Amino acid sequence: MTIYRAPIQDTLFVLNDVLGYQRYSNLPGFSDATPDVLEAILAEGAKLAENVMHPLNRVGDMEGCVRHGDGSVTTPKGFREAFDQYREGGWMGLAAPAEFGGQGLPYTVHTAVSEYMVSANMALMMYPGLTQGAIAAIITHGTDEQRATWLPKLVEGAWTGTMNLTEPHCGTDLGLLRSKAVPNGDGTYRISGQKIFISAGEHDMSDNIVHLVLARIEGAPEGVKGISLFIVPKLKLDASGNPGQRNTVSCGSIEEKMGIHGNSTCVMNYDEAEGTLLGEANGGLKAMFTMMNEARLGVGLQGLSLSEIAYQNAVSYAKDRLQGRSLSGAKAPDKKADPIIVHPDIRRSLMTMKAFNEAGRALALWTAIKSDVAHRAGDDKDRQAADDYTGLLTPVVKGVLTDKGFDHAVMAQQVFGGHGYIEEHGMSQFVRDARIAMIYEGANGIQALDLVGRKLAQNGGRAVQAFFKEVAEFCEENRADEKLAPFTKALKKGLNDLQAATMWLVQNAMAKPDNAGAASTDYMHLFGLVALGYMWAQMARAAGVKLAEGANGAASFYDNKLVTARFFMERIMPETATRLARISSGADTLMALPAEAF
Ligand SMILES: Cc1cc2nc3c(=O)[nH]c(=O)nc-3n(C[C@H](O)[C@H](O)[C@H](O)COP(=O)(O)OP(=O)(O)OC[C@H]3O[C@@H](n4cnc5c(N)ncnc54)[C@H](O)[C@@H]3O)c2cc1C
Repeated sequence: MTIYRAPIQDTLFVLNDVLGYQRYSNLPGFSDATPDVLEAILAEGAKLAENVMHPLNRVGDMEGCVRHGDGSVTTPKGFREAFDQYREGGWMGLAAPAEFGGQGLPYTVHTAVSEYMVSANMALMMYPGLTQGAIAAIITHGTDEQRATWLPKLVEGAWTGTMNLTEPHCGTDLGLLRSKAVPNGDGTYRISGQKIFISAGEHDMSDNIVHLVLARIEGAPEGVKGISLFIVPKLKLDASGNPGQRNTVSCGSIEEKMGIHGNSTCVMNYDEAEGTLLGEANGGLKAMFTMMNEARLGVGLQGLSLSEIAYQNAVSYAKDRLQGRSLSGAKAPDKKADPIIVHPDIRRSLMTMKAFNEAGRALALWTAIKSDVAHRAGDDKDRQAADDYTGLLTPVVKGVLTDKGFDHAVMAQQVFGGHGYIEEHGMSQFVRDARIAMIYEGANGIQALDLVGRKLAQNGGRAVQAFFKEVAEFCEENRADEKLAPFTKALKKGLNDLQAATMWLVQNAMAKPDNAGAASTDYMHLFGLVALGYMWAQMARAAGVKLAEGANGAASFYDNKLVTARFFMERIMPETATRLARISSGADTLMALPAEAF
């Protein structure tokens, strides 16, 4: 049995003391989430995660989902009841607009609580996770009628949503998709085609499933310019808006897969299923991106969540497992051996995970605040600046947090030695579950290309320049503070490497696009290192302020922050130099061998 404790104190430190969450109380929803309310929500969410969802994580892994002959799918024992509690607690609509039955609270609060629930049970949380994306797409692109028809039930959690892009021959390259839509002449369409790998495509946890499906309207142009998005319900609605007659969409099979066994990954067959257009004809990709951007931040969070729970279990094991003696003399002389936490190499793993998790949490919450400002601020300039940040940071959060999430699940498994490889301790499940987050919602290589190929140059580089300026100003403002010097100096060095890499791309990638492709993954991680380093420098400053104020009995919490910040700057941040060296080596050697040489 694995353990999990939601890191509430840490979330509150980041929101209240580092990111100045209360500064945003002028934005809609923020004033309702006062410090007391925020704390109460985190505590309630933690209870649901720890007591209801976490005990089902292993059950989901062992049992998986079962498809029956009629195409229906049964989820693992306890999933339905846990989802009922999630729904009844109002968690689905936490950040959704009040006019559709939501609570209108900040997306930031939703993000903070989701981290706990995803740590506790990633496969279970994917059912509501995809629904959030569907809600976002219908809010942004739906007509008034579509909003009124679909949103209240989705926000309530009575119905769930899915996202149907992938087809057997069409994954990353959506321009290849073949599913077609034929107009019925009454505003509805007949949708036909096969979609694969559809998460939560069929299950037994809700009264209806609202599929958002990409298809090509008959006669539409080839490629991505001819794709439209449709709402296709599993059960068509009757005249009173209740689920009635079965639509001609069905689950043909569910995939046997490496992890997230508790989530049904379905082949979905559309056989002239009835649907309505969401957004403009041939504007499907734009509409889908609303859903995907939300989902990408959610998937980034999955990386952090799994890194956190894997870390917590590794720490517990390292304190317990007795093997060998400390290099500096016995630490538990009354026992036959010392606990492995005394060994520097075990510490290296634990500190690496800890340093990443705490900064990753800050980065995810910072991005969530930017997303809230982008959607809720009254001032156009504020909205635009925040939107720039969200766009820039989304591929970094998705790509870096999930790459590291998997690395750390493996690292935590290693702390268990052979006991991590067998199923009994649950570490293997974290590794298997974490792996998918690097692949779906745009594989991480594609995130890196999005950052380098699109986001850097957007609006003449406005977003990236704003990021550089903010980090440089932070270093400059705190330059005279000797206590902060170890952090600001290391951060400035990382920023210099990132700026040098950016300049190298400007000078070398225009004329030779392979240079951009060859640099992209290293650039994304270099960006991530600087963003995480910026989070650590701010956390160190906030911890210093708290200690100077007397720390209210939590001195060790803030002292530990300073030590972990130092570890990050000494041991992780220097990787920026390696990344820069790789980037500036260009594409020539990488691309030199002919395909036959492999
Ligand atoms: C468990 C699971 C759940 C999923 N859930 C959903 C879902 O709910 N809805 C949905 O629509 N899809 C879903 N997917 C599909 C997932 O999003 C795709 O698998 C993913 O987008 C990659 O597509 P692909 O598998 O066809 O890989 P491909 O597109 O064939 O890519 C193969 C590799 O080539 C790389 N590559 C491709 N093109 C380029 C390029 N131009 N430049 C550089 N590298 C490139 C990719 O990064 C990847 O590493 C799911 C998949 C799984 C396994």
